[in-house]
Amino acid sequence: MYKGPKYDFLIVGSGLFGATFAYKANQAGKSCLVIDKRPQLGGNVYCEKTEGINVHKYGAHIFHTANKAVWDFVNSLVPFNRYTNCPVANFHGELYNLPFNMNTFYQMWGVHTPEEAQAKIAEQRATVSAKLDGSEPRNLEEQALLLVGKDIYEKLIKEYTEKQWGRPCTELPAFIIRRLPLRFVFDNNYFNDPYQGIPIGGYNLLINKLLEGAEVKTNCDFFREYKDSWRDLADTLVYTGQLDEYFDFRLGRLDWRTVSFKTRIEDTPNYQGNAVVNYTSHDVPYTRVIEHKHFESFGQAVYDNPKTVISEEYSTEFQPGMEPYYPVNDDRNNSLADQYRALAAAEPNVLFGGRLAEYKYYDMAPVIEKVLNMKI
Ligand SMILES: Cc1cc2nc3c(=O)[nH]c(=O)nc-3n(C[C@H](O)[C@H](O)[C@H](O)COP(=O)(O)OP(=O)(O)OC[C@H]3O[C@@H](n4cnc5c(N)ncnc54)[C@H](O)[C@@H]3O)c2cc1C
Repeated sequence: MYKGPKYDFLIVGSGLFGATFAYKANQAGKSCLVIDKRPQLGGNVYCEKTEGINVHKYGAHIFHTANKAVWDFVNSLVPFNRYTNCPVANFHGELYNLPFNMNTFYQMWGVHTPEEAQAKIAEQRATVSAKLDGSEPRNLEEQALLLVGKDIYEKLIKEYTEKQWGRPCTELPAFIIRRLPLRFVFDNNYFNDPYQGIPIGGYNLLINKLLEGAEVKTNCDFFREYKDSWRDLADTLVYTGQLDEYFDFRLGRLDWRTVSFKTRIEDTPNYQGNAVVNYTSHDVPYTRVIEHKHFESFGQAVYDNPKTVISEEYSTEFQPGMEPYYPVNDDRNNSLADQYRALAAAEPNVLFGGRLAEYKYYDMAPVIEKVLNMKI
């Protein structure tokens, strides 16, 4: 039996939820042990240095928020740079700016003014409305056509969405695309939030700051080491691992969607001139290529490093053992997650939090906001 000091909190998972919780606990004078089953800290925001470049190992992470308190909080730990997400789409070698804005419309149709662009879109939508003749769109294809018309749908949405979901758009439900914002201004900034950027020096610095003052242990799986004995070690458990796993999958497994990455070094200082390029046609098997250095180097500084690191992203069917990335919000999974949530609510002295334990997609800022608002 464990005979060492007793912690106020045992925190399972060193991602943004666990690390922010540890920070708050430390500020409140509480002790905590943070464990993670991975060999490193930081959860999905962890970056691995390759050729001097911070590589986002678990998927590209761009911090954005409209919440000034969260923005001030993270910047008080590590200043953020001016990275602004302006993805580009490649359709059979034709390049288009995203999100859909005046630059995209110019590239698509050669239109120069908002009025010309609006007229073009109205004309394209009218053709689809006439075909639907007042009936509700029956699938994602009809929905998207109704929102943006044929050209944008066929070049920038159809095949990309089919690669993401592994199914034809005619077999996907219409509700997946509720809105497709169109901007009649020349603005390639993907996010509407007033604050965005990347921590200067990378996300690991932010995680290290959050975990200052906490004891940490990596390569430590809660289920192997502490599941049966944690009450001897700590008063409260903060659990940020998978919800169904905590209950030994006793009601069945929750499904996830995942992405796999093929990362390589390229012997050129500037491979694609942008951090994010979406490949929107079927002839290219991956959905996006991320060039990591562009998150942190700008202008001529891109050429200070003669090499670059890129990751191709492939949509992949989830199997147990793969990284659980996105919850699946269908009826089966929603109802199963609710049953597990009821079990979780009845667990004494255990707090379930974060994207895995809540079975909920969260951006980074809302995770931090949630913990900052908790009473610890
Ligand atoms: C592919 C992808 C891209 C994303 N891009 C963005 C973006 O651009 N902008 C944005 O704002 N958000 C983005 N997000 C969301 C962001 O990753 C989450 O908001 C954030 O990771 C949530 O932190 P967390 O602590 O809940 O989870 P995680 O970061 O997943 O941390 C959970 C930790 O728990 C550990 N753990 C699990 N089980 C155990 C166990 N049994 N024992 C010990 N440790 C365990 C895991 O190893 C992991 O380190 C993205 C998410 C994904 C999946």
